[in-house]
Amino acid sequence: MEKKAFQAESQRLLDLMINSIYTHKEIFLRELISNASDATDKLAYLALTDDQIAVDRDELKITITPDQIARTLTISDRGVGMTKAEMEDNLGTIAKSGSLQFKQDMAAKDAGDAAAKSDVDIIGQFGVGFYSAFMVSDHVTVISRAYGSGEAWKWESDGVEGYTMEPCEKDTVGTDIILHIKPDGEEEKYGEYLEQYRISELVQKYSDYIHYPIVMLMHKS
Ligand code: ADP
Ligand code: MG
Repeated sequence: MEKKAFQAESQRLLDLMINSIYTHKEIFLRELISNASDATDKLAYLALTDDQIAVDRDELKITITPDQIARTLTISDRGVGMTKAEMEDNLGTIAKSGSLQFKQDMAAKDAGDAAAKSDVDIIGQFGVGFYSAFMVSDHVTVISRAYGSGEAWKWESDGVEGYTMEPCEKDTVGTDIILHIKPDGEEEKYGEYLEQYRISELVQKYSDYIHYPIVMLMHKS
């Protein structure tokens, strides 16, 4: 197993996320579904441009599986997946995406803390992406197999110490994001994100525009 530290700027973003005063933690699901959709788009595009690739469009769906006993929420896609290097580059560092913009805005916000109470919808505006998973999880596992690769890799992190990576088994190409949902606190009841009605509500609220089927599987523990 390989153990790596996060880059300094990723660490800073994670700290902000985990200790976020931000109240709309629920947007993590929108971010993860949007990533699953992007990955599926990439695979669909590959299939269009390369007739060597046969993609069964019926399989291009996004699956959400809450498991109340294990206290995990898994978001799975049949998208393009990630190689080991892509997992390290894209999950261990801040992508040149909305994340960086967010980080800069948060830094500016930190500087003069006047805005703290107004709780501006910074996260909503910029789409912070994958790291938002750590707002509701104490530990995230990503299992991915890239298109064209026979091997799969497991990436794991508590968002604090860095991450570990190790080879693993995965039958299908694509990615499983497994959130280990935080225990309920005095104020935050993270367990709501394992409730079927709540997940459906969030999917309807934020992911209505996704053009792949989003299905919920009930885990039988
Ligand atoms: P953004 O989506 O804006 O690029 P994110 O933080 O949401 O930023 O995701 C970072 C990167 O991680 C993505 O650009 C993508 O390369 C990779 N990634 C995240 N989720 C997945 C997924 N389900 N399948 C494949 N790649 C993913
Ligand atoms: Mg994203």
